[in-house]
Amino acid sequence: MAKRRPSRNSHVTARQQDPSGSGTGPGDAGDPAHHGLPVHEVVLLLETDAARGLDQEEVARRRAQFGVNELPRSQRAGIARKLGRQFNNPLVYVLLAAAVVTVFLGEFLDSAVILAVVLVNTLIGFIQEVRAEAALDALHSLVRTHAAVMRGGERKHVPSEDLVPGDLVLLEAGDKVPADLRLVRLSALRVDESALTGESDPVAKDEVVLPQVTPVADRRNMLYSGTLVTAGTGAGIVVAIGGETELGEIHRLMGAVRPVATPLTLKLARFSTTLTVAILALAAVAFLAGLAHGERPGQMFTAAVALAVGAIPEGLPAAVTVTLAIGVRRMARRRAVVRRLPVVETLGSTTVICSDKTGTFTENQMTIRALWTPSGWYDVTGSGYGPEGHITPSAPQHPAPQHPDGRNLAAGVTRPGGAAMPGGAAHPGDAALPKDDALQWSLLGGAACNDASIRREGAGWQVRGDPTEAAMLVAAGKAGIKVQDFLAANPRQAELPFTSERQFMATLHASTLPEDGGTVFVKGAVERVLELCAHEMDGQGAGRPVRRHAVLSAAHALADDGLRVLATAMMSLPAGSGPLSATELRGRMTLTGLHAMHDPPREAAAASVKACQRAGVGVKMITGDHVRTAVTVAAAVGLAADSAAGTALTGADLDAIPADRLPEAVERATVFARVSPEQKLRLIGALQSRGHVAAMTGDGVNDAPALRQANVGISMGRSGTEVAKEASDIVLTDDDFATIEAAVEEGRNVFDNLTKFIVWTLPTNMAEGLVILVAILLGATLPILPTQILWINMTTAVALGLMLAFEPKEPGLMSRPPRPPDRPLLTWALTVRVLLVSALLVAGAWWLFEHEVATGASVAQARTSAVNLFVAVEVFYLFSCRSLTRPAWRIHPFGNRWLLVGVLVQAGGQLALTYTPLMNGLFHTAPIGADAWLRILGLALLASLAVAVDKRLRRRGF
Ligand code: ATP
Repeated sequence: MAKRRPSRNSHVTARQQDPSGSGTGPGDAGDPAHHGLPVHEVVLLLETDAARGLDQEEVARRRAQFGVNELPRSQRAGIARKLGRQFNNPLVYVLLAAAVVTVFLGEFLDSAVILAVVLVNTLIGFIQEVRAEAALDALHSLVRTHAAVMRGGERKHVPSEDLVPGDLVLLEAGDKVPADLRLVRLSALRVDESALTGESDPVAKDEVVLPQVTPVADRRNMLYSGTLVTAGTGAGIVVAIGGETELGEIHRLMGAVRPVATPLTLKLARFSTTLTVAILALAAVAFLAGLAHGERPGQMFTAAVALAVGAIPEGLPAAVTVTLAIGVRRMARRRAVVRRLPVVETLGSTTVICSDKTGTFTENQMTIRALWTPSGWYDVTGSGYGPEGHITPSAPQHPAPQHPDGRNLAAGVTRPGGAAMPGGAAHPGDAALPKDDALQWSLLGGAACNDASIRREGAGWQVRGDPTEAAMLVAAGKAGIKVQDFLAANPRQAELPFTSERQFMATLHASTLPEDGGTVFVKGAVERVLELCAHEMDGQGAGRPVRRHAVLSAAHALADDGLRVLATAMMSLPAGSGPLSATELRGRMTLTGLHAMHDPPREAAAASVKACQRAGVGVKMITGDHVRTAVTVAAAVGLAADSAAGTALTGADLDAIPADRLPEAVERATVFARVSPEQKLRLIGALQSRGHVAAMTGDGVNDAPALRQANVGISMGRSGTEVAKEASDIVLTDDDFATIEAAVEEGRNVFDNLTKFIVWTLPTNMAEGLVILVAILLGATLPILPTQILWINMTTAVALGLMLAFEPKEPGLMSRPPRPPDRPLLTWALTVRVLLVSALLVAGAWWLFEHEVATGASVAQARTSAVNLFVAVEVFYLFSCRSLTRPAWRIHPFGNRWLLVGVLVQAGGQLALTYTPLMNGLFHTAPIGADAWLRILGLALLASLAVAVDKRLRRRGF
C-alpha cells in the first residue's frame, strides 16, 4: 500500500492543480482517465477495496489531504461582478453626469455630495444583494444530501461532503450522485445526466472499459456528481470530489453567480427602467422648456437633475429582493426550504394543495395492529418499533372466512426446507403463537421480503428504511420469528423492488433442497397481491383456492378502521425456473395473510387543513394507499370524502372518466387513492385547466414530472428521494402538512409586505418629481434641491421602507381568498391611495415653502422645512402602510421593533441635517424654529388623517 501511495497522491494532486480538470479528459496520455481503466486498476490506483471500501482511518487521512466534497464558492469573481452591477443603473448614470456638470458649474461641494451618494447607494445595493444571496445560500445547507458508502466492510450513511477519493458509494433509484464515480458493479442502472449534458432522457450505464477518447456524455462506466439515478442500483469508487468533478468544472466556467431574480423582480426592474427612461425624457423636456423661458442653463440643469433623481424609484428592485429573501428565511425557520425563489410569489396565489397521505397527513410511524389469515383474526399488542407485544387470536371483525370441510386443497405449496420452518424460524407450534401455519408464513414472508432494519438507539428504536417494512419486521419479532436465521440459510437471490406503480415487492430465496428452485415471498397492496394468487394457505399450511371475496372483505374491514393493509403471499419455484418477474408469479402464488398497520394522523394536520380551507385553499389527499384507508384518514384530518358521492376517486376511476369531464371531477373530489405517479400528472393538469394554482407533494423518482408540472412542487426532506427534491420548488424538512400551510401563509405575507413597500415609496417619488416639474413650469424657485432629494430618497428607503419587510403577518392573512395570479400589485384602490398621498405631499410642501418664505424665513430654511415635511409625512404614512386595510391605531405599535428603530434613526438624521453646520453646508439646509416644526407635524398629521379616511371609505366599499 505504502509504496503505491505517492502515485495515487500525485495522480489526484495533479488534477487538483490542473484547473481545466483535464485529468479525466480524453487523450490525456500521461494521466489515464478512470473510464479507460478496468475496475481492478482503478482500485489499485485509488488504493481502495471494491467490496469493503476504505477504512475509517484512511478516510480521515484523505479528508485532511483532499478536503471537503463541496463545490468551491467563487466569491471574488462574484464580488466584482455584483459591485459592477450596482453601477449599471440609469440613476447612477444621471448622478455621475450631474456630478461632472456641477464641477463645471463650480459647485464642487454639490459634486462631492452627489458622488458620495452614488458610492453609498452602490454600497447599500451591494450589501443588500450579498445578504440576500447569503440568506438563500444558507438554505442549501438545510437540505443536505447523504450518501450510502461501504467503510471497512460496513454500510454507512454519511453526509455527501464527507466523501473522499477512493470511497465506495452505493446508489439506488432516487439518489443524487454525490461525486464522480467509476462504476464497479450495477444492476439495470439508469441515470438522468441532464444537469451535466442537457440530455433529459435517462442513460443506461454499464461496466465496460471505454476508450480514453470517449467524451463525458458517453462514458457509460462513470457516474458524475449532480446527476440523478432514476432506476436500478449500482456501486462506484469516488474518483473526484468537490471542484474537481465535472460539475465543479461547469460551476467554475459559469462563475457560479446565481442572480436573485423572480418574475416579479424582473417585472419591477423592467418597470423601473421604463419609468426611468420616461422621467429622463421628461427632465430633458423640462430643461429645454426652462431655457425657452429664458432661465439660466446651470439652474435649469440642477432642476432637471432634481426632477430625475426625485421621480425615479431607485430603491424598488433592491427592496423587492430583500423582502423576498426575508420571506424565504422565515419559511426556512418554519421548515419549508425554498429551492426556487419565484415560488415565493406563487405560494400567495395557491388555490389548491394536493398532498400525500403517508408521512404528510400522518406520522409515518407504522405499528401493526391486526393480522388476518384465511384461518383467523389476530390482534397485535405493543406500540412503536420496540419488540414488546404479543399476537393473540381475536374475534372476527366480519363474518369469519368459511373453512372448506377439511379437504387439503394444497396446490404446489410445499414448505421450503421440508416439514419444519426453514432456516430455524419458529415453528407454528411455538407456545407464544396461535397455531396457524399461514400466520407463521405471512409473518416470515413480511420480514424476509423486506429491506428495513431496526436498531436500538439510546432508549428508543431507530428505523432505517421504509417504516411499512419496519413494522412488519417488528410484528415477526413479536411472534418470535428469527428472520436472520432464515436468511442465513435461505439467502436472497433476486428481488423485484417495491415501486409505486407495481405496488408490491418480491424476493426469491435459495432453498436448501436441490430439487427446489427457491421460495418467493411477496408483499404489497391487497388487490395487486391477489392478482398473483390462485390459492390461499390454511391453518395447516396446505393450499386451497383463494376466496377473493373473503380476503377483500377482511381487507376492507381493516381499511375502514383507517389501517394500512398489506397482503403477503408465497410460492415454491420449481428448479430451473426463469428469472424472477411479475408475469412469472401471476396466478401461481398462495396468499398467506394480511398485515394491518396503524399510522397516526399528525397532530397539527386537522388544524392546518381547517386553516387552508378558511383561506380559500382547497386541500386534496393523493395517496397510493387503499381508498377506504385514505377516506378514514382523510376524515380524521377534516377532509370529507365519500366514494359514493364521487368525492373519493381511485386511480381506476380517474382512468374511466372521459377527458372532457376529468377537470370537473378532479375539482370536486378530495381523496384520490391508488393513484400512480402518471395519474398525479394528469390530476395536476386537470386542476390547472380549471384555473387552479396547484401545489403538489411528491417523494418518489416517478413523482418528478408531477412536481415540475405543479405550480408549487413540494418534496419531502426526510423521506423524499433526491430526484424528487431536485424537481421541487420547496423541500419540507419535516415532511409535515402543517409546514405547507405555513409556507402558503409566509408566501402571502411576502406579497403583502412588497405591496406595502411599493404603496409607501411611490408617493414620495411622484411628489418629488411633481414639485420640481411644477416649479420649472412656473419658473419658480425650487422648493427642494437635488441633493436634498437624494438625502430623502436614500435615507428613508433604508431606514424606513426596508423595515416593512420585517412586518409580521396581518391577522386576517389566512381568512382571505388567494390572490389571483394576474392581479396587479397595485389595485385600483391602492393606486388611488398613492395618488392621494402624492397630491397631499405636493400641496403640503409647496404651501409650506411659500408660507415660510412669505413669513420671513430664508430660502434655505424654507427648503429645510419642505424636506422635513416630506420625511415627516413618510414616517406617519409608514405606520399607516403597516396594514393596507386597517387603520394605523389598530396595529400593535411595537409589533415591528425594526420599524421603531428605523424611525429613531431617521429622526436623528433629520435633526443632524437641520442643525449641524456640516450637514447645513453639504445639503444647503438651515436650522428652523419650533413653530416650523409644529406646522410640519400638523401637516403630516393632516395627511395621515386623509389616508385614514380613505382606508375607512374603502373598507365600507366605496
Ligand atoms: P402516499 O402516496 O400517501 O405516501 P402510500 O405510501 O400509501 O401513500 P405508496 O408508497 O405508493 O403510497 O404505497 C401504495 C401501496 O403499496 C400501499 O398501500 C401498500 O399496500 C403498498 N406498499 C407500500 N409500501 C410497500 C412496501 N415497502 N412493500 C410492498 N408494498 C408496499
